[in-house]
Amino acid sequence: MTQFTDLGLAKPLLKALADEGYTTPTPIQAQAIPGVMTGRDLLGIAQTGTGKTAAFALPILHRLGEDKKHAPRRSARVLVLAPTRELATQIGESFKSYGKHMGVTVAVVFGGVKYGGQMRAMAGGVDVLVATPGRLLDHLGEKSITLDGVEILVLDEADQMLDMGFIVPIRKIVRYLPKAPRQNLFFSATMPSEIEKLSGEILNPNPLKVSVTPQATTVDRVNQRVLFVEQSRKRALLGELFDDAGFKRVIVFTRTKRGADRVARGLEQSGVDAVSIHGDKSQGQRERALAEFKAGKVRALVATDIAARGIDIDAVSHVVQYELPNVPESYVHRIGRTARAGADGSAVAFCADDERNLLKDIEKVTRQRIPSFDRRNDKHLGAATAAMPDVGGKPERADTRGSQPHRGQHAPKRNRNHSGGGGGGGGGSRHEGAPARSAGDKPAFKGPSRGGDRGRGGGSRSGAGGGGSSAPRPTGVWSNR
Ligand code: AMP
Repeated sequence: MTQFTDLGLAKPLLKALADEGYTTPTPIQAQAIPGVMTGRDLLGIAQTGTGKTAAFALPILHRLGEDKKHAPRRSARVLVLAPTRELATQIGESFKSYGKHMGVTVAVVFGGVKYGGQMRAMAGGVDVLVATPGRLLDHLGEKSITLDGVEILVLDEADQMLDMGFIVPIRKIVRYLPKAPRQNLFFSATMPSEIEKLSGEILNPNPLKVSVTPQATTVDRVNQRVLFVEQSRKRALLGELFDDAGFKRVIVFTRTKRGADRVARGLEQSGVDAVSIHGDKSQGQRERALAEFKAGKVRALVATDIAARGIDIDAVSHVVQYELPNVPESYVHRIGRTARAGADGSAVAFCADDERNLLKDIEKVTRQRIPSFDRRNDKHLGAATAAMPDVGGKPERADTRGSQPHRGQHAPKRNRNHSGGGGGGGGGSRHEGAPARSAGDKPAFKGPSRGGDRGRGGGSRSGAGGGGSSAPRPTGVWSNR
């Protein structure tokens, strides 16, 4: 198997990788790094969680080190565009940590904070500038940043840029770039036609194309469960899940900002330390919440999709979808928060009666039937842990299962009794700019994945469910959809 030491990366980079404890490149890294090191353009179909940041950061840093020079004032040699401030910050941190033995200079620029610090950071020129499009355009208009020195452009999460209305700003930014030959790296999780068009405009002819199918691998790697539950009992059910000490570091997704605040409050009231992040929170609040969650000071991070996308937090034990997303692809992004870089994870989705259609859409896009429990008629909400996703088999593929009933699932291991909590909760009403995709956009998972694309630990997909155990179905728990 290829090792980082086989790729010809400069010594300071190998040292930084060793510091991180990384020895083996992920598939996208193994495929992208050698070509990008030679200066080729790249079209990468990949999402966060595949190791794609290092797939571009390492060869870029290698190239900078081979041709050391100072960027012009107020400019950068590398420009990375990212859709959200959180992702921009993470990318900036990755460049710093991989480049720490090279003395690389990095600036991160995003909206919602004052301009002064960003202007000071850029004044003398930096090696790498990571920016969100809107704020960068403001700086370009004010001439507090110029793109005269840019030799390498990275566009990350292009499809999310499209969702967030950033395509026009990106085209404007590209017009500020120098005409001199430039290396371009373009990443997107999906390839809707507008993104394909944009990639054609930005990339030089014949880019290296690398495609990993993380949605499929993520879907395969995560133990998933759907719990059918009345809307009014979601709050109690959530509290009950947290009775399980295994729910150590949990991201809870809501559809709305108000819903996120309400769920976080409800958890606090039931004694679970929780914080919320969403688009109405200030940058400082968002950073503090993330830091507390990362440090393990709180067990639950309650988030809306926009705020959580691209967030990379290690060792998230569970993802709970308090409400199903309107956009099926978001389901995949959400569960991907718990299966970082090849790790397995567990995901629980609550589904109220009026969310059944959303569930159908999700199962269509991911081509799987998610094992489910019906919690609507439970007198007590006890036995929630019977529904824990870490005890059963993996979801079955819709395309391999036909009309068979659920097979290969184990009986719940634990059946503790809890006294049920009160009702309340319920979904909020205000929407936070959920990505609006047209029905014509490509689904996140298309067809069987290819063996070579799988993340570490991914075995071959095996038709009807894992294990093949014929454990009895506990009556009244399994759904009979
Ligand atoms: P990304 O897809 O860039 O968001 O990376 C996902 C996570 O994988 C990050 O926490 C990285 O630090 C981690 N990672 C990246 N490359 C490797 C590697 N070769 N081995 C192990 N972990 C990695």
